[in-house]
Amino acid sequence: MANNQHVRAKKHLGQHFLKDENIAKKIADTLSLSSYEDVLEIGPGMGVLTKYLLEKNITTHVIEIDTESVSYLEENYPKLADRIYEQDFLKYDLSQIFQDKNFAIIGNFPYNISSQIIFKTIEMRHQIPEFSGMFQKEVAKRICAKEGSKIYGILSVLTQAFYDAEYLFTVPPTVFNPPPKVDSGVLLLKRKESYQLPCDEKLFFKIVKTGFQQRRKTLRNSLKTFNLSDNLKANAIFGQRPEQLSVSEFIKLTTLIQNDH
Ligand code: SAH
Repeated sequence: MANNQHVRAKKHLGQHFLKDENIAKKIADTLSLSSYEDVLEIGPGMGVLTKYLLEKNITTHVIEIDTESVSYLEENYPKLADRIYEQDFLKYDLSQIFQDKNFAIIGNFPYNISSQIIFKTIEMRHQIPEFSGMFQKEVAKRICAKEGSKIYGILSVLTQAFYDAEYLFTVPPTVFNPPPKVDSGVLLLKRKESYQLPCDEKLFFKIVKTGFQQRRKTLRNSLKTFNLSDNLKANAIFGQRPEQLSVSEFIKLTTLIQNDH
């Protein structure tokens, strides 16, 4: 892609521009386009993916932190009109764009803020029925991992509490400019029908995070700070390690702790 020559990639912004048009199109095509009329692309760079979004029957908005990329987009994608936001996705109040409307998220994301992108999405899940895009492969795999797997952790449980997560395909470093050091992976998150937990959500988050901080220990040990009663600690679930628990078992665990004492 000749476009890529215009802007020198800024490493601290996680800039790795995709130069393979087929992959860009394939990522854009992962969106189902149902249950929302708007899509927000995070980090469009020079618009390799944006171009394919603009062909679809949906309103595309882009949020990009880099001034140079924003100027490039303004010049080359008049169809985006006033839907280019020169902002930090993590800090920007998205209700300024969407009010209380639904929207999908897509992107070849900046890998340095992958977890924060996921956490912000989870926080705003009431408005985000679908989320699709590219992370570094290891992170994409981790988000989609199931219990019992070595890479199953906080990101897997918190994401899958609200979304069905599917790892779609792997993308090699050679299709980026400059090439990253790692493989990339594309995933698709589809919000579950019920995205409210049947337990105290704050407590659920706290238990998942605390449990995985010491992933080799049994929950009886890692959850000591919760001051559990002896009676509760005798429950077999506390003899397990966090990576053995499915999302629904974490919900059960939260309910047990909530009702303790
Ligand atoms: N989507 C483009 C660029 C991917 S590189 C492509 O596939 O070629 C990641 C992009 O995210 C860069 O353009 C970078 O400037 C942008 N970015 C980095 N941090 C950001 C943030 N906090 N908010 C919005 N965009 C960000």
